[in-house]
Amino acid sequence: MKKRGFGKNSNGVEIEHYTLSNKSGMRATIISYGAILVSLEVPDHRGKFADVVLGYDSLDGYLTDAAYLGAILGRYANRIARGQFTLGEVSYTLACNNGQNHVHGGLKGFDKVVWAARDISTVMVDALELTYLSKDMEEGYPGNLTVRVVYTITPENELKIEYFATSDKDTIINLTNHSYFNLAGHESGDILEHQLMINADRFTPTDSTSIPTGELRSVKGTPFDFTRPTAIGLRAKQSNEQLTYGYGYDHNFSLNESEGLSPSLGARVCEPKSGRILEVWTSEPGMQLYCGNFLDGSIRGKSGVAYQKHQGFCLETQHFPDSPNQPNFPSTVLKAGAPFRSATIFKFFNQ
Ligand code: BGC
Repeated sequence: MKKRGFGKNSNGVEIEHYTLSNKSGMRATIISYGAILVSLEVPDHRGKFADVVLGYDSLDGYLTDAAYLGAILGRYANRIARGQFTLGEVSYTLACNNGQNHVHGGLKGFDKVVWAARDISTVMVDALELTYLSKDMEEGYPGNLTVRVVYTITPENELKIEYFATSDKDTIINLTNHSYFNLAGHESGDILEHQLMINADRFTPTDSTSIPTGELRSVKGTPFDFTRPTAIGLRAKQSNEQLTYGYGYDHNFSLNESEGLSPSLGARVCEPKSGRILEVWTSEPGMQLYCGNFLDGSIRGKSGVAYQKHQGFCLETQHFPDSPNQPNFPSTVLKAGAPFRSATIFKFFNQ
């Protein structure tokens, strides 16, 4: 693994930049700021490599970023209605940084903090461990929470992300990675032709502020049916209340096989021209499909590329949005002293 500096944040802390690779030449770069995945280079069917995630060339881009490019999100990824939840007898109020709701951990979530990085590579694989202590009541969440994220590049062209945490008080937790993928390369325009399969018969429809109504709705006969590979753009502009609320796809899917800790197949995406295929395997019960609906060309990404609407898609593996207020959703409560574990694998192939 290679390590270098990536500049200093506003507090003068030196940010580290790590390059993980495998023998086939797959490479990932990760920084200690936000535990952000900066780049991910994978081959196409001719062996030509491309960087398939959106990002910035320098730290400055990440310091001011509001689109969460490549970042680890926490303590609670996605939304909590009106920033409020109750644990036991105690009510908590979080920042409302997304209209009337809380999103992605608050004003300074895990994407905007400095993590302690440690090279834990073995002879077989490159692996980077990132640790962060989120203090009791940081961003309004109870409990001192120690979080550990491990990125590994395997010989099978997988990027594996494992999450571990413990808290000294009962708390809530929902962690994910917010990479925007474009399997043709980050500079290659929109992702509407990518063929997407999501292993989900149901999704969680929302109100107009993207808070789930609590219903688990069948995808059958709707633009949310990705049970067979379908171009992302094919139905994205259909007249549909849910698509109106999300400005396109910005919804959580309830994955079909999600029992236990071992990851199962959540999604498969194929980019027809390059032949690159991405499979997402996860231990999480849900996955947010977000298609860069709010990108508008104002972000100058890597190599000065202006990222336009739909330039990348996110498959954010997660527990369902607003779970703390939704008794019929899988619980996001982490009991004091109990171990939290989650794993997601992004696996690359060629057609
Ligand atoms: C959310 C979107 C949001 C995006 C970037 C996604 O996880 O669901 O609504 O715009 O993150 O912030």
